[in-house]
Amino acid sequence: MVAAVSLQNVYKVYNKVPVVDGLSFEIQAGEMFGLLGPNGAGKSTTIRMLTTLTKPSEGRIQVAGFDVDHQRSLVKSHIGVVLQQISIDSDLTVWENMEYHGRLHHIPNPQRQKDIDQALEYVELSDRRNDPAKTLSGGMKRRLQIARALLHKPEILFLDEPTVGLDPQTRRRLWEIIRKLNQQGMTMLLTTHYMDEVEYLCDRIGIMDAGKLISLGTLEELRQQYGKGILMKQTGEHWDYKFFPTVEDANQYLEQLPDKTGTMTRPSNLEDIFVELTGRNLD
Ligand code: ADP
Repeated sequence: MVAAVSLQNVYKVYNKVPVVDGLSFEIQAGEMFGLLGPNGAGKSTTIRMLTTLTKPSEGRIQVAGFDVDHQRSLVKSHIGVVLQQISIDSDLTVWENMEYHGRLHHIPNPQRQKDIDQALEYVELSDRRNDPAKTLSGGMKRRLQIARALLHKPEILFLDEPTVGLDPQTRRRLWEIIRKLNQQGMTMLLTTHYMDEVEYLCDRIGIMDAGKLISLGTLEELRQQYGKGILMKQTGEHWDYKFFPTVEDANQYLEQLPDKTGTMTRPSNLEDIFVELTGRNLD
């Protein structure tokens, strides 16, 4: 089976600095793939290359079976894109924003009106269709972006930091929309610097740092690899962490410590693994 997304040794160099540095991975059809990393890791640049907005300096990228360099319009007709910066026209109404996008994709009427109605209903914005986009809340604007990206029925949806800057409740609502789309069979790649987002949504996680993929797998595979148990010890303001294959192993280690002050064990999570890998917290 042809991978939905395939990167082979991809580089993007700005001012002689590789901000994407030899990236190779594949996403299978129907997968929800999360690219996690701190600001500046190269996530947006990767999404921009995958969605034909910028060319790779080196390497090969295929999306929906097409080459991003030589088959740009075929790639574009098979993908939906929700970028970090809100790209809707705030002076136009919700419907006008959809209509404009539908025309860009040459969807003929009356199909276009049916598709607009369906997409707006999907993201629960039907009752705001005649309101100027500038009157929408941040979460609604994001939902409008998603509705617009869905209009031409893409196979693969790219979401760059879809919930950045949104309140927890609004984030949850977007997660449900994203999850439902994936359950209906849509392949998705999302970038984020929120651990809980990937833990909740993604089948597989790629951890990126300084332009490189430093780890790749399901959460369970990553926990298996680095250790499923953690022992934490607090010294003043500082916490030390030590990984163990299981929580049981961490408990046994703790049992034989002469001084157990400020020490506890728990199951490891993605944040522990990220800190272990990069030596940094994300926030
Ligand atoms: P992320 O999305 O993980 O925060 P980006 O892909 O936005 O990371 O950025 C990666 C690095 O590339 C950053 O250091 C950023 O400053 C640099 N960068 C991104 N776009 C450009 C550009 N057009 N020109 C020069 N440098 C860029």
